[in-house]
Amino acid sequence: MEDAAPISFKFRFIKKGQAAHMMSKKGQADDIGLELGGDRIRYEEVVDTTSRDNRLIVVFRPGAELGPVVGKNLAEAGIAIIEVYKIGVRTLERYIDRRSSLMQTEQRRARLAQEGKLNLFRTLACPCCAATVDVSELDRTTYVYCRFCESVFKDGGEVVTLGDVYRVCDECSIFDRVQSYTEFYFYFLLVVYGFSHKKRHLCDNCAGRTFWKVLAINAVFVLGVPSAIWMKVKSMRGREARLAELPSANALAKKGKVDAAHMVFATLYERLPDHPGLLYDQGLGALMAGRTDEGVGYLERSLKACANFLPSIQFLGSLSDALPPEGSSS
Ligand SMILES: [Zn+2]
Ligand SMILES: [Zn+2]
Repeated sequence: MEDAAPISFKFRFIKKGQAAHMMSKKGQADDIGLELGGDRIRYEEVVDTTSRDNRLIVVFRPGAELGPVVGKNLAEAGIAIIEVYKIGVRTLERYIDRRSSLMQTEQRRARLAQEGKLNLFRTLACPCCAATVDVSELDRTTYVYCRFCESVFKDGGEVVTLGDVYRVCDECSIFDRVQSYTEFYFYFLLVVYGFSHKKRHLCDNCAGRTFWKVLAINAVFVLGVPSAIWMKVKSMRGREARLAELPSANALAKKGKVDAAHMVFATLYERLPDHPGLLYDQGLGALMAGRTDEGVGYLERSLKACANFLPSIQFLGSLSDALPPEGSSS
């Protein structure tokens, strides 16, 4: 592997949104696993990682062997959140993903070999983050999704949408451009006044909606207004030309105007034929309007275009849990 040198960093465990201890601890990542505050965890135990700002969320497999320090500092069952210092959190995330993905695909290869199905083993290197994407046992489709960096690329390796910019919104589950915003509130309590702020990652639609809330609350205190307006401006400018109309398509769908939204999606498909994120959005729009069969149809189509598009797989999974089994009368 090209960057075999271990990387070291400092970190603090985060619990309930706050640092769980005063002094930062030492961490290291190498070829085999992670070392956190003296505990060693092999990459086989890591199922997924996600980063937001300078925090890394590490999801362990159920029953993972964790040391006493990590075990005591979990944010919730099976999940550790650490705030990373000294190095960029993305650098650490990608380092872990590259290795754990390789390890997981090796296990898959061994399992398929055991079952005599080695011909179904297939992997691709993500052109964006270099993680190994396992597409074994899946139909070959136009697009491939990288669950590590959330990018969509063509089977031939051409990047279509970067997960850093276009992904599923944390707050509304719609696929769109997602940016980070600092919500800024001035408050006035009897004689005390000041401000509070929090950082959120929102799609263009959620940012537009949050703008009105921030503006309304801050309107009494003129100082907060510029930051609210900046939020609106940021959500509207610098959109990628190929996906410029996506927020309006999603806004229409959220208002229940599914057919009007479909017209806008049709324009988007002229530039990005059958992009799985767009089909997923169209499916969600139809589902929100109560058009279940149609919604499921779009989600299934997104998997015909991109067999491993995880947002659709997860959504269809939770739908089949929620919907009554076929043939039942209700
Ligand atoms: Zn990737
Ligand atoms: Zn959103």
